[in-house]
Amino acid sequence: MNCINCNKEGANEVVLGVVVCADCADIAKRALERAQRDADALVKMHAEAIRIAMIESRLRPEINSGRTDMPQVLREITKLPRTEPSGRKEDNGRKTAVPPRGRPPGR
Ligand SMILES: [Zn+2]
Repeated sequence: MNCINCNKEGANEVVLGVVVCADCADIAKRALERAQRDADALVKMHAEAIRIAMIESRLRPEINSGRTDMPQVLREITKLPRTEPSGRKEDNGRKTAVPPRGRPPGR
């Protein structure tokens, strides 16, 4: 049987329901692994955006509706913390215990 992808003989692996040769199977599996890593990274970015939104009392229904697009997530993550030149953050009655932003402790 020939590989459906490259037409080489000796297709003996099934990837995603498609019979392919070992070489093409390897390529497909690597692509899948990469997609999984990208998806994991995306979930982490969303989680971080949601975490920051909660800490800053900005979590609203729309952020959890699944319609959050990447640019919005990036804006959430890269948003600079609100700093007031005079007076400290604790003075306005907001939460004072803000955990570190995902940075490993110490270095
Ligand atoms: Zn092939």
